Amino acid sequence: MMTQTAIMICAMLVLKLSPGHCSNCYLTPEICGVKPLEICTPCPGNPWVGCCSEPPESPDCYKNPGTCDEGQWCELNDRKSWDESESTTMGRCLPLQRMCASCDADFEEYNPPIVPGLDAFDFYSPTYSPEYKIGSYLDRATRCGKGLICTGKLIPALPATCVVARPLAPNKTYDKPTAENVYNWGKRWMRMGARNLLNTVANRTPAEQDDQGASRSDIHRGVNFIIGALWNTKLWGTFTPLTIESTYDELCCHWDNYTATLSTFQVNRTGPEYRNPLTPKDPEMGNAPPCVWCSYDGAYNDENPSVWSLIHALTFNLPEEVSEEQFQVLQSMPLWLREHLSCPLCRSHIKEHLIDLGVPATHSGVAWARFFWQAHNYVNEQSEVTRCGSQSCGWGVWNTPPAYTCAGVYRSPWYLSFAKASEQWFLGPQINSTLQSINVH
Ligand SMILES: Cc1cc2nc3c(=O)[nH]c(=O)nc-3n(C[C@H](O)[C@H](O)[C@H](O)COP(=O)(O)OP(=O)(O)OC[C@H]3O[C@@H](n4cnc5c(N)ncnc54)[C@H](O)[C@@H]3O)c2cc1C
Repeated sequence: MMTQTAIMICAMLVLKLSPGHCSNCYLTPEICGVKPLEICTPCPGNPWVGCCSEPPESPDCYKNPGTCDEGQWCELNDRKSWDESESTTMGRCLPLQRMCASCDADFEEYNPPIVPGLDAFDFYSPTYSPEYKIGSYLDRATRCGKGLICTGKLIPALPATCVVARPLAPNKTYDKPTAENVYNWGKRWMRMGARNLLNTVANRTPAEQDDQGASRSDIHRGVNFIIGALWNTKLWGTFTPLTIESTYDELCCHWDNYTATLSTFQVNRTGPEYRNPLTPKDPEMGNAPPCVWCSYDGAYNDENPSVWSLIHALTFNLPEEVSEEQFQVLQSMPLWLREHLSCPLCRSHIKEHLIDLGVPATHSGVAWARFFWQAHNYVNEQSEVTRCGSQSCGWGVWNTPPAYTCAGVYRSPWYLSFAKASEQWFLGPQINSTLQSINVH
């Protein structure tokens, strides 16, 4: 079928072009009709030549929601037109990406959905890819399938990849930032960088040892200063400074009365070090209970997750605009961690995992929550728990799991969406009640 306009264009072109042009739409795309629309497809029996044809019947999933099959999503596109009767937004069904495939992150994945009725899955997330303006439709066929999440550009070690989304612990058993929990996490900080046995001066008795680096009392004052500065009194009342004495009644990790509390499952894995990111409170297969490494460095066995928990509890509940003092404290946190984390491996990664991400230079409270959320995901992509299923996989030994097969294959899911992180840590009344009523990604 050739429209009159196309015939006219062809007649005008015929003087200049070789004969084949008027019937080959690969060479002269203008010859195909506009209304009704024709597209240029391979000619029957001669695929090298283009023939104008009617577009195939395909469901418009914007006009007819729910027409896409399982494993597909509805990509929306706008067609600009002056014709009021035309359908200007159309949708077509496209396959979802599988695990390990590349992807574009959507608005839903990176922003807690607070507007009912907004299908945030359809839009790019401006925080993930600043080159897309807010409101841009996700218009490439690279959206992750069910249960997966797109890492976007937030994990420097990975290209944007579909990975299994880390869920919150089932039945809302995940830790919430109650005052009691926040104090408990703070107690772990009091034992940070604890007794560094390698840091003694030879040939001196313990009484003669000078403080190496920061003194214990400086660490305690620093911890109380950090927590006190970022503390939300409206949520947790007036801050009572922590004391080291409050940690003295903990059991030592090697004592019989501690090991007797471990389940057979935990004993058969890494004992006090065992962690289970998926069902942390399960009595048999969950995290090992807290204890202190008395004969090693005096730190808590759960210092690492508690350091994160305290940081998230404080930063997700900051004021909209932080004060100058809070800003200084927040900017110093990566340096504090680099100096005082008890885990030497983690400490050595702080520059790469936190500082090189770009420590925020802003007084916006939520920007700080996002920074530590992003850093936590980046750290966990490469953590021993994620890669090995516990905190010990024998570095360099035969059982170190291969990472080369697919960047999306891990033993434990590690990428927690910002929406889920907000659900866990943010105590603001409005957003939390909205989140509870929406089944978020
Ligand atoms: C500063 C720092 C650096 C570290 N560096 C390393 C390292 O280099 N190598 C290594 O093997 N381990 C490192 N760790 C430890 C690692 O990050 C985990 O804490 C540890 O593997 C325990 O895992 P988990 O699943 O028990 O708890 P975590 O993953 O620590 O989770 C603790 C809590 O935070 C929540 N959570 C999880 N992810 C997020 C997020 N993105 N945003 C907000 N909340 C979240 C969880 O729901 C949970 O309640 C580091 C820890 C810290 C604090």
